[in-house]
Amino acid sequence: MNSYQPVALYNTLTRKVEAIKTYEPGKVRMYSCGPTVYNVAHIGNLRTFLFQDLLKRVLSASGFSVLHCMNITDVEDKIIRDSQVGLAPTANNSDRLMKMREFTDHFTRIFFQDLEALRILPANFYPKATDHIPEMVAMINELIQKNLAYLREGSVYFRVKDFKSYGQLSRIDLGDSTSEIDDRDEYDREHVRDFVLWKAAKPAEPYWDSPWGPGRPGWHIECSAMGRKVLGEHIDLHSGGIDLIFPHHENEIAQSEGCLGHPWVTHWTHGEFLLVQNEKMSKSLGNFYSLKDLVDQGIDPIHFRFMIQSNHYRKLFNFSFEGLRASKASIERIRNFRRRMEEPTSEGIASWEGPLGPLDRLNHARNEFWAALRDDLNTPEALAALYTMVSDLNALDDRVPFSFLEKQHIILFLNEANQIFEAWPTVLAESDQEIEALVKERIQAKKNKDWKRADEIRNQIQSLGITLEDTRDGQSKWFRR
Ligand code: AMP
Ligand code: ZN
Repeated sequence: MNSYQPVALYNTLTRKVEAIKTYEPGKVRMYSCGPTVYNVAHIGNLRTFLFQDLLKRVLSASGFSVLHCMNITDVEDKIIRDSQVGLAPTANNSDRLMKMREFTDHFTRIFFQDLEALRILPANFYPKATDHIPEMVAMINELIQKNLAYLREGSVYFRVKDFKSYGQLSRIDLGDSTSEIDDRDEYDREHVRDFVLWKAAKPAEPYWDSPWGPGRPGWHIECSAMGRKVLGEHIDLHSGGIDLIFPHHENEIAQSEGCLGHPWVTHWTHGEFLLVQNEKMSKSLGNFYSLKDLVDQGIDPIHFRFMIQSNHYRKLFNFSFEGLRASKASIERIRNFRRRMEEPTSEGIASWEGPLGPLDRLNHARNEFWAALRDDLNTPEALAALYTMVSDLNALDDRVPFSFLEKQHIILFLNEANQIFEAWPTVLAESDQEIEALVKERIQAKKNKDWKRADEIRNQIQSLGITLEDTRDGQSKWFRR
């Protein structure tokens, strides 16, 4: 019996929102194109990795088991250019390969630190291109044997005209050869659309030996070869940023289906770009941020995480510092509400007789929350349901204080929602406990008529960004500002 809930997701291949169909029931084999580790990731890259995290969390919360593979591109033109600086002309190939590995290891480590700071769930596999050269060579050989690839001056190219369904994903006009200018190579090709599978080494470049001479793999072949090795011949879900649809993903399909002879990926999913000041991020415009740049400005990575996750993954999103402040305020609202639900209350089962009590409202919000997420990861709608619930229940609790059991149900839902957003604590945070202790100490000081100490504590609490409100019964409530 299936114990999972269907999840619908836009499929770039069909241009429709469709329920995810898996090759094996309940198990999602998911491949994501990972970082090119020639520099630290920028916040646009991180938006794409956060979108993949959201997708995985919604699938897991819906009962699917997810097997996730994300490659690390650790050989490529810019990596070679930047990693070989300072090497003596007499350096041999193993020195060059070692230098390249040291260089990419450094940025790979930073990449993993960024994932951790953003609470992105780790993938099951992170294969590196340079650890899979034999698999790529074997795949290129298969393509040559099938007449889908040919050799030119030590490089190997894919023969696009003989792969009949080329263009199925990007729906590019095959008559228009200007759109793939980026993918041009300096070597002679049969046709301008043909793309490189193996690049002959230039002097002073690190290389691997191959049946076609020294060289290195092209970018596209790594995903086809490693995806096959790690996840097998059928991939349920393949994802990346929208810029990868063409040529990268189109070429991955050509290579993989050219070899396998059957459809390879069922569902293709792409995240929209992050803009800064409504423009593409670039170093020359000075609008390029890494996560560290934000942290250096005092930004909590969780506020960045929440800002990204609050917006729909298929909409362009403009990064701003106001947006970060707004997401901090939204998180604080939920935290304050959660703490309120933890405050002691009367025993008893229900505060409310009849409909539209706290549990009805909770169930309504809970259904809307999950329905929105399972409908193409609609986080804005899911959060709208949560925010409405928080306002309603705050007002309701003012009128008729909730019972312990009602509060427990509400806390359980907040914890459940946090499995997706990872933005508010699921247990009372240490910092909350410190504030609670100060509040109690101040109440005691007031009882002892030690006004000086009570004022000192009030100032201390306020300096932590907390608003304190004394209630008529001699207690105090506090909120984060
Ligand atoms: P790269 O490290 O350049 O291979 O890119 C890693 C991932 O980031 C890919 O899935 C890209 O599609 C994605 N990406 C690049 N720029 C942006 C951006 N500005 N916004 C969102 N995703 C991006
Ligand atoms: Zn890829």
